[in-house]
Amino acid sequence: MADTETAPGAQRFIPPQADTLDELRAAASGCRGCELYRDASQTVFGRGDTTARVVFVGEQPGDMEDQKGLPFVGPAGRLLRKAVDDAGLDPGHIYLTNAVKHFRFEMRGKRRIHQTPDRVHITACRPWLVAEFAKLNPEVIVVLGATAAKALLGPAFRVTRQRGELLPWPAAAQHPEDFQRVPVDSAGGTTNAPPAQLLATIHPSAVLRADNQDVAYDGLVADLTVVARALAG
Ligand code: SF4
Repeated sequence: MADTETAPGAQRFIPPQADTLDELRAAASGCRGCELYRDASQTVFGRGDTTARVVFVGEQPGDMEDQKGLPFVGPAGRLLRKAVDDAGLDPGHIYLTNAVKHFRFEMRGKRRIHQTPDRVHITACRPWLVAEFAKLNPEVIVVLGATAAKALLGPAFRVTRQRGELLPWPAAAQHPEDFQRVPVDSAGGTTNAPPAQLLATIHPSAVLRADNQDVAYDGLVADLTVVARALAG
């Protein structure tokens, strides 16, 4: 599979007049912003409750997500839903998306093996994430793993050091101006919701890969419990 150092990026594929996430999803199906579209089956855009108080951002679709066209439907997605539930959050009222919206993999025999997206893919795909956030109004954003953290917080952020910590959003973002809340009325007012926060934790696939899955799972739930408390507070 080709590995490029530059990519045109997704911005040119985003219709400026798109009003809804459905319109963005439809446009994303034709994205050619980097080379990942060539080998993957389809674009896997975000899905879930568009009024969700919590938005989860993962890395990229996996093999099953690529086939079904839906994020977080494979083993890691099932584990995430269980962790969300165990933390006291409602798995039915979340929005799930990924930093990179095509599956990156390499063939080993007949198997498609996940490959971590490079910075070029994260940068190319970031405009979709920015466009999604412009249509969402979460109170907490949960960043799952290093790739999503790089996309939102920049390359210096270390999930291992700052996981489980509530950070101010969008102030903590690499380019906070990309994520300012958009006016919701004709007077230019914004919602009277409290300022949003962001929390980074491990990706659920890291739990599945961990030597001690129980410990890793408990850590994920503990981090998500911080989110549940913040929403209740
Ligand atoms: S990974 Fe993102 S930028 Fe690259 S083609 Fe897919 S949707 Fe476009």
